[in-house]
Amino acid sequence: MIDIKNVSKWYGSFQVLTDCTTSIKKGEVVVVCGPSGSGKSTLIKTVNALEPIQKGDIVVDGTSIADPKTNLPKLRSRVGMVFQHFELFPHLSVTENLTLAQVKVLGRNVDDAKTRGLKMLDRVGLMAHKDKFPGQLSGGQQQRVAIARALSMDPIVMLFDEPTSALDPEMVGEVLDVMVQLANEGMTMMCVTHEMGFARKVSHRVIFMDAGKIIEDCTKEEFFGRPEARSPRAKEFLSKIL
Ligand code: ATP
Ligand code: MG
Repeated sequence: MIDIKNVSKWYGSFQVLTDCTTSIKKGEVVVVCGPSGSGKSTLIKTVNALEPIQKGDIVVDGTSIADPKTNLPKLRSRVGMVFQHFELFPHLSVTENLTLAQVKVLGRNVDDAKTRGLKMLDRVGLMAHKDKFPGQLSGGQQQRVAIARALSMDPIVMLFDEPTSALDPEMVGEVLDVMVQLANEGMTMMCVTHEMGFARKVSHRVIFMDAGKIIEDCTKEEFFGRPEARSPRAKEFLSKIL
């Protein structure tokens, strides 16, 4: 579903990603972790070409992001992305937030977009809030709306970049519950997160990054079950968070 092939990226003269290679199969849930500044956000943003790469290629469901003939906006519309900060449009109601991109990007008619959006809102348990504005919702609720908005676009894969790290602790669970549900329904997911409970419970694989390189890419069982077999950097990371 996603093939990341020998990807390198520089910001000016600073190399932020070095020869990253991995692939994510359909229905697989992959957690990306590693120290701050290791390149996790950058890597995940390269998958939907929000950040250009200078070397290598990424193929998403058969479409190469490096191919100049690729229609990147079209590709992006099929890749759901949820960031740390919810980034809902503050001046639009929840329902309008859910329908806008479906109408503008996918060309759906307003009624179909609304039906689809509200179905996803129901799925994240927020139907009662459909007419509110983002500012009237808690952080956890806003993040669930952001997930519903991404799902309304019928994504083939969902990318998450620390979706719970800006939330008050009591709201982390409700967002993780939605992510667990999605994973259990078979959604292909790439998640940057430090929520190791989530990683242990639902991920299939764990990627550990350090200084722009993928230095561990193994099953969850290997990652958590045999820490002694991990690289020194991953061992150190695990010893701090477990
Ligand atoms: P965190 O856990 O803190 O979110 P991260 O693993 O997501 O970290 P990135 O945000 O991908 O790390 O950043 C990787 C490196 O690239 C860091 O050293 C960062 O300072 C640098 N960097 C990120 N964005 C830019 C940019 N737009 N211009 C220059 N350098 C950048
Ligand atoms: Mg980051």
